[in-house]
Amino acid sequence: MKNRYLSQIVFPEIGKKGQEKIKNAKVIVIGCGALGCAIANNLVRAGIGKIKIVDRDLVEISNLQRQILYDEEDVRERIPKSIAAKRKLEKINSEVKIEAIVSDVNFRNIEDLIKDCDIVLDGTDNFETRFLINEACVKHKIPWIYGAVIGGAGSTATIIPEKTPCLRCIIEEIPSPGNLPTCDTLGVLNTIPAVIASIQTTEALKIIVEDKNLNNDLILIDLWSTSREKIKIERKRNCPVCVKKKYIFLEGEEISHATSLCGRNAVQIVPQKRSQISFKKLEEKLKHLGKVKYNEFVLSFKTGDYELIVFPDARVIVKGTTDISIVKTLYAKYLGI
Ligand SMILES: [Zn+2]
Repeated sequence: MKNRYLSQIVFPEIGKKGQEKIKNAKVIVIGCGALGCAIANNLVRAGIGKIKIVDRDLVEISNLQRQILYDEEDVRERIPKSIAAKRKLEKINSEVKIEAIVSDVNFRNIEDLIKDCDIVLDGTDNFETRFLINEACVKHKIPWIYGAVIGGAGSTATIIPEKTPCLRCIIEEIPSPGNLPTCDTLGVLNTIPAVIASIQTTEALKIIVEDKNLNNDLILIDLWSTSREKIKIERKRNCPVCVKKKYIFLEGEEISHATSLCGRNAVQIVPQKRSQISFKKLEEKLKHLGKVKYNEFVLSFKTGDYELIVFPDARVIVKGTTDISIVKTLYAKYLGI
């Protein structure tokens, strides 16, 4: 395994010293879809010391078009994405410490998740979580790298608290539903995530080796039209986050507990109170009402047109609808909360 990182060591901007810094670095990838898979793949092959991968979802057949760490067996076995990613990545590089976390990232857990990390990499698919990441990273002074893809296009920016403007300086409010194209309406090609994730990973490596030439702009790339744009970003004088240090997303005021999942015809419910669910007991309760199956990570319950995916912490993803009121009714009915 002596020459595993030779190509990076001979690259002058990294060198032996830089490779050592990469080995000592700890990062977190939030969301392990198309972007998260490509970022984690790059960083693990590059020899990152420790990586945490957080994702709330299971691998599905429609993910395989672009989420490069998963295969058909993961779909059949109903494996959570972060677990499937860890299993694959460990085969690629056993020197890296990989922590897989099956969880929703929200105002309750984000600070604990990020505070021992050097960099936060955005692999999410929604602005609610990105605004939360932005506040947590500004508060804890942790660099984070924003990335987003849709259709054949994507964008990225590198945010260094106290040095650069933050995400709220670029985007003032969460775009309201209906005003923004989503993966439901525009789809996503499998080429653009690789490009945006490569920029995100390269920025992470530059931060780790303390290279000064970080990206200072909002980069927009459209692969279909092969166009690229760099937009200068400036600090907003009254930015609620990086100027006024008001963290309303972190306080939980702006976070909804039921969220429609992008491109999925599914809704996620995160219960107010955390509790531990026994799949065995729940199976007993539900088996007369529909089809129940479970493994060590999730329990699936099919009834009529809906499927409820239950996680041990009482979080549920309901498939077959985007109607939040239906989902709340199903949750109350079957989980009794
Ligand atoms: Zn700001």
